[in-house]
Amino acid sequence: MRAFFDPEQSRHDPQQFMQLGRISDPKDLPSRTEALLTALSRRGITPEAPPDYGLDPILAIHTRPFVEYLSSAYERWSQLPDAGPEVLPNASPYWNGRPEWTARPPCRSGSIVAQTNYFLGDLAVPIGPATWTSALRSAHTAVAGADAVIDGAGPAFALCRPSGHHARADRASGFCYLNNAAIGAERLRGRYKRVAVLDVDAHHGDGTQEVFYRRSDVITASVHVDPVHYYPFFTGYADEEGVGDGTGFNLNLPVAPGSDNATFLATIDTALARIRDFGAEALVVSLGYDAHAEDPIGLLKVTTEGFRAVGARVRDFSLPTLVVQEGGYQVSVIGDCLGEFLDGLRGGEGSG
Ligand SMILES: [Zn+2]
Repeated sequence: MRAFFDPEQSRHDPQQFMQLGRISDPKDLPSRTEALLTALSRRGITPEAPPDYGLDPILAIHTRPFVEYLSSAYERWSQLPDAGPEVLPNASPYWNGRPEWTARPPCRSGSIVAQTNYFLGDLAVPIGPATWTSALRSAHTAVAGADAVIDGAGPAFALCRPSGHHARADRASGFCYLNNAAIGAERLRGRYKRVAVLDVDAHHGDGTQEVFYRRSDVITASVHVDPVHYYPFFTGYADEEGVGDGTGFNLNLPVAPGSDNATFLATIDTALARIRDFGAEALVVSLGYDAHAEDPIGLLKVTTEGFRAVGARVRDFSLPTLVVQEGGYQVSVIGDCLGEFLDGLRGGEGSG
């Protein structure tokens, strides 16, 4: 199978992460990519660097003011007197609670500080000198994966880092800057009439939900820890079903903290049944490993072998499939999780 990755994606190197009132060690470490690349290498898969697609596929999902902000924020921030090492907000932006809106109106202030408060949703998305380049190439990796699927090469793996599923049309949050899965799904929509996004990261894919919330041509289904207990807290509830034309095309399946393989997989089966009913012609899998029992910010009890079962389900589903990397922060286990998933997806080809 084909896989995509650009070493530029490893340059994003966050220095700070706010956790329970304390600046703590960052979780999205560049070493995550090494672990995942090793898993690919052990299976004889050599990732290809994506072409440079420019901004067009990104602007199909994100607003231009947001993209202009992300691409220029670090340089503008660096020019502030006494600027800290990374761009971070010091005020929580107001979310308008208007699900019928794709995005908010543009920020009314041109100040870099105001725009940082407007476009960065939390303290998990610092912008350093290489963040924009890494995020842009991560998005291109998703586009290249989608193109490989369209070319009929079978399932493709986009090793996206930074991740994307918390990024909304005009807001970065939760380690995510550009929504790679949404960008990939939109690319697939150019070829397939109905596309499904199945998100099995332990966190609700709130950005992906928001992007497609008003649409009936892309169904989004997310299996995640009940947001009563877990980030992103404010979305991911079962009663969020879409709005307008999109009503009935968003499915949230929260599971209780502590859930194990059996619950996790049964819930994925429920999501896949709905996707089958929808008549999807292509599938995007947002694949995170933070459901794993050892994840440092996880609350579930899924085992490494559990991810093989997820891969097998995707294989049995038999749709053109783009797999997009999302979260998973225990560097010592994420390579094995990916490897097991790929073995399941490829039908036990194992290391061949
Ligand atoms: Zn996650």
